[in-house]
Amino acid sequence: MTFVFLNLYTGKMSIIRKFNARKRIALIAHDNKKAELIDWIYYNREVLSKHELLGTGTTGRLVEETLDRPVKKLLSGPLGGDQQIGALVAEGKVDLIIFFWDPMASQPHDPDIKALLRLGVVWNTPMACNRATADFMLTSPLMSQEYESMLTDYGTYLSRKV
Ligand code: PGA
Repeated sequence: MTFVFLNLYTGKMSIIRKFNARKRIALIAHDNKKAELIDWIYYNREVLSKHELLGTGTTGRLVEETLDRPVKKLLSGPLGGDQQIGALVAEGKVDLIIFFWDPMASQPHDPDIKALLRLGVVWNTPMACNRATADFMLTSPLMSQEYESMLTDYGTYLSRKV
């Protein structure tokens, strides 16, 4: 849910995207990082049971098998899965991204990866790209609370003269 309010401090309108206590978490891991993600998922299975999980095709399947619970599976990353997650972020249908990307191997879908990381920033979406950040994210008190994510106001950009 998105709403707008007047920020009395800045005098400007702020746009808020609200996260429920039950978060929608997108999971992605490149092949060399899948074992690490699965290990992390299993270790954190109790906390994760309180949240909704979705993922790119292969990652989603492995998570589903590991946790023995349904995970919404999109296309495999190189076939469009990263782009699908990016679209869900833009539509406000994903709250958090856990993306263990491989810094040591180039991927056929490098542009899609960059696009997803960019949209995560555009929409002020929490993103963990390594295990330590994912640990800090999952142990945050905000994981079990509603949260108001303050979005950048793109109004000036949208109303620009072209
Ligand atoms: P996969 O995709 O989960 O289908 O392997 C991950 C990726 O490479 O983006």
